[in-house]
Amino acid sequence: MRQGKNMSGNKESNEENLGKAKSYLQRFSDNITGHFINGQFEVPTNAETFENFTPVDNTTLGKIVAGSAQDIDRACDAAQAAFADWRDMSGAARKKLLNHFADKIAARAEEIALIESMDCGQPIRFMKQAALRGADNFRFFADKAPEAVNGQALYQDVHTNYTMRTPVGPVGIVTPWNTPFMLSTWKIAPALAAGCTVVHKPAEMSPLSALLLAEVAKEAGIPDGVLNTVNGFGETAGKRLTEHPAIKAVALVGESATGTHIMRQAAGTLKRLHFELGGKNPVIVFDDADFDRALDAVVFMLYSLNGQRCTSSSRLLVQQGIQAEFMAALKERVGNLKVGHPLDPETEVGPVVSRAHFQKVMSYMDIAKSDGATTAVGGYAIETLGDGNYISPTLFTETDNSMRVAREEIFGPVLTAMTFDSEEDAVRMANDTPYGLAGYVWTKDVGRTMRLAKNLEAGMLWFNSENNRNLPSPFGGMKASGIGRDGGDFSFDFYMETKNVCIAHDLHNVPVLGR
Ligand code: NAD
Repeated sequence: MRQGKNMSGNKESNEENLGKAKSYLQRFSDNITGHFINGQFEVPTNAETFENFTPVDNTTLGKIVAGSAQDIDRACDAAQAAFADWRDMSGAARKKLLNHFADKIAARAEEIALIESMDCGQPIRFMKQAALRGADNFRFFADKAPEAVNGQALYQDVHTNYTMRTPVGPVGIVTPWNTPFMLSTWKIAPALAAGCTVVHKPAEMSPLSALLLAEVAKEAGIPDGVLNTVNGFGETAGKRLTEHPAIKAVALVGESATGTHIMRQAAGTLKRLHFELGGKNPVIVFDDADFDRALDAVVFMLYSLNGQRCTSSSRLLVQQGIQAEFMAALKERVGNLKVGHPLDPETEVGPVVSRAHFQKVMSYMDIAKSDGATTAVGGYAIETLGDGNYISPTLFTETDNSMRVAREEIFGPVLTAMTFDSEEDAVRMANDTPYGLAGYVWTKDVGRTMRLAKNLEAGMLWFNSENNRNLPSPFGGMKASGIGRDGGDFSFDFYMETKNVCIAHDLHNVPVLGR
């Protein structure tokens, strides 16, 4: 393996962040991290535990309880018992409480960001915003709580129908490790605002910020049993949660294969399911694109968050006319990316989340070679940064859609680039994937944007933009990338039942039988 040359070096801020992170993390190495059930933090007696390793150097940050089926059952019972009171609380009261929750998150944003960076390896420059975005998620849905019940008035001559929404009941929320805090709030905030109670099963690879979220819930005065957190593995704790009869709906953010498992597990109790799954998202750069903006976006949307982002544009399609110039500029930029400790403010790419994930990402370096791709930049592990999971930002060229590096979600700092001739080629190549989460297009041709908006198979499309999130807009994927949409009212449609109410004006003839 070769040595990395792209190390970052803001030593002072790095030391300062490290010092703070160490003091925040001390409690996790001194104590076993357990669950939060019915308003109590607990480590069950004789609980099985596992070590939580930091990607920075693969040392342990502390022990985590591997939740059992019994732990999940207790959490589901608590969520069930708390449901009626939470459902019946006025929307205005829920709004106040959840805004208070948001303020408490914002107050602990630095602690959340530093812990999260050490737990999952995402650079602090991105994690800072992720904690604050968690607070924004709560504020946004808190403000919507009072009107979540509202539906449509459907007036007819002799009847009036109106619709209203009521919360579905206790829900299970299962989250991944890539931006754990932000994604958990993105799911939990609308569920609570809708009036559902929640059992949260965070990812086993980055469990710490979920405990902070539970602490914030307690500090903010969220009633006991309304939010419960059970740590542990997907195959045990996650499985039981998705099978539990008290749980009426399950929202998963995770891999497509996990969605398949959960669909099977939840079938016996006919649960409502919402899946946000994997992606192999295309970014299409046409000859007429704004070259510099497109280049910035291509680099940002793959290498930020270490390539561990569901909406990362991991397949680049460049049109023939600008191919040589664009690829030359891209190679230079990828080669310049600053790889380093996630707490260094200058770091652009940190270590990937775990040793197992590191090995998975690294396996694609050989797969690319045997498939005939060219490794234009990177392709090696960085050993000069110690025992962490550092991978050099990598760019594969001379690829086509038949190669595994073009078809499979690698979820690391690895970009696969291809060339196309015509708009038709671009659409065909972009859609030739099992996934359909996001797509990005760079062109100045307005007519083309309209045609591509219709023809590209993805739940979310960005034209002349990187991933710019608008909380009321629908978020979610097609094909193997998911089922259902989040965001604004779309979230309430998932966490709430729509009831139709029909009231007669007492003017119509009621059919008469047997008189
Ligand atoms: P994962 O599917 O391995 O795990 C996600 C969660 O599911 C974890 O909490 C895990 O414990 C749990 N789980 C696993 N098996 C389970 C089972 N049988 N029953 C119940 N729960 C189970 O995913 P990951 O590796 O943590 O995260 C990376 C994946 O998440 C990538 O595929 C990425 O694209 C996807 N993701 C998607 C979005 C999106 O919005 N579409 C956002 C972020 C991440």
